[in-house]
Amino acid sequence: MNCVFCKIIEEQLPSTPVYRDDLAYAFADINPKAPVHILIVPREHIGSLDEAGEDKSTLLGHLLWGAAEIARKKGLKNGYRVVVNTGEDAGQSVDHLHLHLLGDRKLTWPPG
Ligand code: AMP
Ligand code: ZN
Repeated sequence: MNCVFCKIIEEQLPSTPVYRDDLAYAFADINPKAPVHILIVPREHIGSLDEAGEDKSTLLGHLLWGAAEIARKKGLKNGYRVVVNTGEDAGQSVDHLHLHLLGDRKLTWPPG
């Protein structure tokens, strides 16, 4: 499968690791939109949030916990945002489910 995040997980492409466990891998976004911009991805290939069935609900919770744990370790005491762009209208550009963790600056609302 020609998936850039699967290649990163399998270390066929370089990344800057932030967190890893049996289910998830987190690494720095190559084009950061905030001083802290980290991607949390499942090791298993899932195309998008829309493709995650009920059998993935525990994994989804684990990814969300992972984002919060990284935010705590990064000391984002003023807050942060977790984003899951899903599909064309949201601008999803990599078809491997990923959570964006954004922080260390004031974030505007609503997003564009
Ligand atoms: P999205 O637009 O929500 O699908 O987010 C995809 C994200 O992946 C973007 O923020 C990109 O900057 C990021 N990205 C793409 N390729 C790489 C890569 N090789 N290493 C790290 N981040 C990447
Ligand atoms: Zn993949």
